[in-house]
Amino acid sequence: MRGFDYLPARDAEEAIAAMPQSPLHHPSERTLPAKFIAGGTNLIDLMKESVMRPRRVVDVGRLPLAGIEAIEGGGMRLGATARNAATAKHPLVLERYPMLAAAILAGASPQIRNMATNGGNLLQRTRCHYFYDVAVPCNKREPGTGCPARDGLARQLAILGTSDHCIATHPSDMCVALAALEAVVHVRSPVGERDIAFADLHRLPGGEPDRDTTLACDELIMHIELPAQDFARHSAYLKLRDRASYAFALVSVAAALDLDEAGRIRTARIAVGGVAHKPWRDPAAESLLAGREATAQAFGEAAQRLLQGARGHGAPGGPGDNRFKIELARRAIVRALEMARDGELTQTGELGAGHVQDIEP
Ligand SMILES: Cc1cc2nc3c(=O)[nH]c(=O)nc-3n(C[C@H](O)[C@H](O)[C@H](O)COP(=O)(O)OP(=O)(O)OC[C@H]3O[C@@H](n4cnc5c(N)ncnc54)[C@H](O)[C@@H]3O)c2cc1C
Repeated sequence: MRGFDYLPARDAEEAIAAMPQSPLHHPSERTLPAKFIAGGTNLIDLMKESVMRPRRVVDVGRLPLAGIEAIEGGGMRLGATARNAATAKHPLVLERYPMLAAAILAGASPQIRNMATNGGNLLQRTRCHYFYDVAVPCNKREPGTGCPARDGLARQLAILGTSDHCIATHPSDMCVALAALEAVVHVRSPVGERDIAFADLHRLPGGEPDRDTTLACDELIMHIELPAQDFARHSAYLKLRDRASYAFALVSVAAALDLDEAGRIRTARIAVGGVAHKPWRDPAAESLLAGREATAQAFGEAAQRLLQGARGHGAPGGPGDNRFKIELARRAIVRALEMARDGELTQTGELGAGHVQDIEP
């Protein structure tokens, strides 16, 4: 590993001031001179592999941003440095946003979740093999070098929103639930504070695949806000992967329904993970469900709409071919919506059946 300076920041201002006053976009994330670090569970791995090479690491993991609390109007605020484990087990998260708890608990391992922070989870980088292997070209790591994944090992990679330059996926489980819940990310920089709608935080690769998000490099995530919603009893997180645990999603679905007394759908939310450079949502697919009975037929139509334009990659018929993910995603969307309708929160076993019903209203 290369040498680097380590600065444990005492407050947000000190952390932000230690970052370069740089333009929104640096030529390559890899050569950014400084990075924030929180739990270190992703950044340290990337530095060991020489995928990222900051000369300065500014530790924000001990900043007093770990609060998890209710906010006026029925929503919640999740601090950036709150650990993933503490967030998933928080009684108010379990009561109001059980789907978020289920998504976090479907990711990584207990040890990693104890270290990983909410801010770091949002900004973890893709798990594309080519990105991690500095011996091969990768436009996300070294812009302009090429994308061997497109005709190579694409099994884990995207089927939606890809470009000629990149087919990487965003690997987070937590972000899929946050997308469905329409979270808002609050950030601070030397020029002030701003709120970013979750749909606008992560970007599609386009011609700049090295840029994962719309954040400037000196913007510090302070907290995530969750608006009040009526999804708690009818939401689900379904994660499909090659191993039963400790693996990233091939496809995951966060599904949430607000049902009226007759069981008809007032509002639906569907976010899909493992299929794009960002959690994938399509408001048109969700509005197809409004006012309808919560049937497999209706869910199938929404899934079909959401997957419009999906396209597979990888050497056809080989082990890296990901064309199967289109049908897998279609079935996963239908199944997750059925689970949400029936009050079945997750298939991972981390949160038991009947969990939501056990919570006092
Ligand atoms: C073996 C393994 C398996 C895993 N499996 C899964 C899985 O199945 N699902 C899943 O979702 N995740 C999985 N993960 C990823 C894990 O969830 C992430 O590594 C973790 O959430 C990152 O959080 P962190 O606090 O450690 O981030 P760090 O590694 O400290 O930082 C990650 C990035 O976030 C930036 N950052 C951190 N905090 C802030 C802030 N407040 N403001 C601005 N920038 C910030 C850093 O600069 C860095 O770029 C796995 C990880 C490992 C090692």
